Amino acid sequence: MRPGATETEVAAVIEHLDLLSLNSHVSRGAERTVVGVVGVTDDKDTLAAQFAQFDGVESVVPISRSYKLVSREARASTVVRLRNGATFGGATLAICAGPCSVESREQLTATAVAVARSGANVLRGGAFKPRTSPYAFQGLGEDGLKLLREAADANGLAVVTEVLDVRDVEVVARYADVLQIGARNMQNFGLLRAVGELRLPVLLKRGLSATIEEWLMAAEYVVVAGNHDVVLCERGIRSFDPHTRNLLDLAAVPLVRELTHLPIVVDPSHGTGVRALVAPMSLAAVAAGADGLLIEVHPNPAAAFSDGPQSLSPPLFAELMLAVRAVAHAVGRRLPGDEVVQAAAG
Ligand code: PEP
Ligand code: MN
Repeated sequence: MRPGATETEVAAVIEHLDLLSLNSHVSRGAERTVVGVVGVTDDKDTLAAQFAQFDGVESVVPISRSYKLVSREARASTVVRLRNGATFGGATLAICAGPCSVESREQLTATAVAVARSGANVLRGGAFKPRTSPYAFQGLGEDGLKLLREAADANGLAVVTEVLDVRDVEVVARYADVLQIGARNMQNFGLLRAVGELRLPVLLKRGLSATIEEWLMAAEYVVVAGNHDVVLCERGIRSFDPHTRNLLDLAAVPLVRELTHLPIVVDPSHGTGVRALVAPMSLAAVAAGADGLLIEVHPNPAAAFSDGPQSLSPPLFAELMLAVRAVAHAVGRRLPGDEVVQAAAG
């Protein structure tokens, strides 16, 4: 719609789309309103010409890409906002930190207190773990979710945690602020549809060997089901080189920002699998334009039930946050806590 198009003009467009049984989604940006439309039609050109005549319509842009609703053209940049004030896609980065797996109340409380103090605003931790071996620790299940909620609430943090199975969506949604879809489930279409039914943000990790197109199509599954709050997470892809666990694709960050309006965060922990590489890749991710970070932190990495070798200790995480803050400011972004400092100064 043209800048300044009236609500009546927008409503007239939507009404006519309804009449043609085409699904529409309205996105109100600072500058203009975008009406995204999906549906099957034989004659796109005639339809486009028709809608171009409606009052208030600036242009009709056919999206020829396979993904529609998540494409950059479809709407203004998505900002996902959580109850505790954390945002994905806003000026302030989301800093998600915590252990790979929830192991115990003591472990999780120590981590939550430490990461909150260093500037994280979201607590991560797996209660349902996707382990390569069926004999490895599978997570504490609902007890783990309860511990996450408790530790997060006590420290002003939100909770992001993985849902592995359609059958667990309801219980995980009861405790989490953000539902994580793990790399191994990126193309579990039943699970994508199930989380698409909810009105709870979804963090969608890139599949182990997924192309960007496949990843965005997976996001499209969630959005087309009605859930628009999707955050992408680059966590590395399979490569031939065993020196790192995965190949962290940082070029995906600026690329994805061109292709989609969805926010993107980077997970340098699974992306490298190597503790010493987590800090430099975190800084590079923020410099590349990431909307946040997802970092594994454990009070005693050597004793972690899973992913110890890539986990940071609380002091290492604190040190990293100082450097991340400097890079964020250099690229015009803020970190959680900056607002408080600014407000106090103002
Ligand atoms: C995780 O973040 O806990 C995890 C299992 O990551 P991924 O799905 O990226 O392997
Ligand atoms: Mn892990």
